[in-house]
Amino acid sequence: MFQLDFSGKTVLVTGASRGIGKAVAEAFSKANAEVLLVARNEKLLREVAREISAADYFAVDVGDFNGVKELYGRIEDKYGKLDVLVNNAGISLHFKSFHKTSPDEWDKMIDVNIKGVMNNARCAFELLKKGKNPVVVNVASIAGIVGAQKIAVYCATKGAVVNFTKALAVEWASHGIRVVGVCPGYVKTDMTQGVFSIDDFRRYLLSMIPMRRFAEPEEIAGTVLFAASELASYITGTCLVVDGGLLAGA
Ligand code: NAP
Repeated sequence: MFQLDFSGKTVLVTGASRGIGKAVAEAFSKANAEVLLVARNEKLLREVAREISAADYFAVDVGDFNGVKELYGRIEDKYGKLDVLVNNAGISLHFKSFHKTSPDEWDKMIDVNIKGVMNNARCAFELLKKGKNPVVVNVASIAGIVGAQKIAVYCATKGAVVNFTKALAVEWASHGIRVVGVCPGYVKTDMTQGVFSIDDFRRYLLSMIPMRRFAEPEEIAGTVLFAASELASYITGTCLVVDGGLLAGA
């Protein structure tokens, strides 16, 4: 099987304790990268770090600017540079009509899904400049490109990530930093477990997906590694859609 090689690269993955982030971290580790894991649950991070042979882990809330700033101070002291930042941490707090949501729910999703990406990009900038062919990969969603039922605020936050990716790519090209988005369709993780367990809705979603199946987290990881690799050296400001044909059929 074709295998990318990230030897000598330091890669930080947020939301790396479960789901897509864990699969991304594991794929980078198998590709010989020095992988740094970030999420809030320290116990889970420790277990994952051991399981996938990650170099380090940090329990940090990506929505907390000061915590994220401190994190990059520690990474600077210990590793001195960063080659790849994968902004993957995200939450989808509700599955209900917008008029039933609360400002508190909006704030939580904005803090993690938008500010979390900004906090990490802002604080990683100087370290990325010391990396080799540095790349930021932002995990957005097809929900950032099209509307979807009962997740209006999530859609808004992911739309922000899509356009932030474009704007940052334009700004940071002159610093030699690529910024690429990855927009998954529906993936089998904790985030979607509840929704996929509603029989009617699962059938409805599958009927819209030309490949008639949900993605495995590893299938998103492959695209993230490609985006971060030299194979994608002329890709920046673009969001790579990984959706089993959902958008093509829209
Ligand atoms: P998941 O299984 O729920 O995992 C989310 C990860 O993010 C966990 O590691 C979680 O760890 C971490 N996280 C959540 N809030 C955090 C915070 N404030 N600070 C630091 N880490 C935090 O979700 P997933 O499905 O893998 O989703 C990963 C990304 O893909 C998200 O950005 C999501 O929006 C996007 N996405 C998912 C799908 C899908 O169908 N699953 C589709 C499109 C896009 P802790 O709870 O320990 O912090």
